[in-house]
Amino acid sequence: MSFEQLTENARRVYAARFGGAPRWLAAAPGRVNLIGEHTDYNGGFVFPMAIERYTVIAAAPGGTPGRAALYSEIFDRTSEFSLLEKEPPAEKVDWESYVGGTIACALEKGLRPEPFRGVILSDVPLGGGLSSSASLEVAVATLVEAASGRQIDPVEKALLCQKAEHEYAFMPCGIMDQFISAMGEEGRAMLLDCRSFERQSVPLDNPNVVVLVINSNVKHTLSGSEYPERRSDCARAAELLGVELLRDADSEALAAARGTIEAEPNGGRIFRRARHFLTEEERTARFAEALRRGDYAAAGREMYAGHASLKEDYEVTCPETDLLVELAAQLGLENGIYGARMTGGGFGGSVVVLADREKAPAAAARIAAEYEAKTGIKPSWFVTRPAAGARLIEE
Ligand code: ADP
Ligand code: MG
Repeated sequence: MSFEQLTENARRVYAARFGGAPRWLAAAPGRVNLIGEHTDYNGGFVFPMAIERYTVIAAAPGGTPGRAALYSEIFDRTSEFSLLEKEPPAEKVDWESYVGGTIACALEKGLRPEPFRGVILSDVPLGGGLSSSASLEVAVATLVEAASGRQIDPVEKALLCQKAEHEYAFMPCGIMDQFISAMGEEGRAMLLDCRSFERQSVPLDNPNVVVLVINSNVKHTLSGSEYPERRSDCARAAELLGVELLRDADSEALAAARGTIEAEPNGGRIFRRARHFLTEEERTARFAEALRRGDYAAAGREMYAGHASLKEDYEVTCPETDLLVELAAQLGLENGIYGARMTGGGFGGSVVVLADREKAPAAAARIAAEYEAKTGIKPSWFVTRPAAGARLIEE
């Protein structure tokens, strides 16, 4: 669906629900991370771009004084939220948690919206690793800004959305998703330093290059300890290297400390976890340089290497995402594939592929067919270019 179709649908659903035309259309995109995986909690770099998939809210002033009424098309339900006081989190996380949490955190930031009513539509797949949750939060924050007649600094806005996700959805996420959804730029990816919040805007604007996202459509259920275990392995590695965060170490220091680390209980594993992080930092820097030069084949090589590191050193890939990357690599440059890697937390989810615009659809169809033949699972895929972040359309 195009952005125009989605906003048109939002106007139509608004008219059907509340009558008349909306005053505001607030939109915020989902995202995909190009490289820099499992790096945020070590203070490292991530490299996301916004995708051409959005959450859109069509709204206008009105309704109950002191309240917002929002209808979720996906859940086919309208809920009300206080605009006067910070409501506490609900125990059970639902779509209202993201909306209510963002409104509550925006109130806490001093925004004073007039009452409004609106409808929420989205073509970001929910729970598909493309951060529909951040796109919803950022769209809500953008709407609350409009209803308050005041804009806040985009970094503040991203941070308040992250706070909503922490406190109302109980998800201890980093800053990437909200930053890119709030501040993405068309034709550019964002090299984001998760420690300083510094951002570099890196062009990915060659009209012949696209990003292909293929969802393996598997999500392996885990014990729940995988993520905290990797975090604590990294924290232990940092401790053994005498630094606060792995960000402060480098590959040379790690090589010098290898014996000490490996002598620890689980030392081999801890060493490999640290090696993934430190080499990923180097790959991310080289990837950004390659994009700046327009050398997509070089960028693609960093993606393959990143996947191998996530597979062998970080152990967060799975047979299905490994297969998708392998199939992409087999097609290779002559079929328009520059590189591929898993993206997101791992254990399933999506792979991100850098590809030639003309050849991407045929390559994707071949990868999908072979993946389905081998696994019996139908993957889903789409092609996108780096999109702009949150926007407000006033009617
Ligand atoms: P992801 O962010 O990877 O898509 P999450 O589990 O973090 O997955 O967030 C998905 C949740 O966000 C949904 O279950 C729903 O509660 C909420 N959500 C996202 N988009 C919408 C939407 N358009 N309408 C209502 N709720 C949404
Ligand atoms: Mg999410």
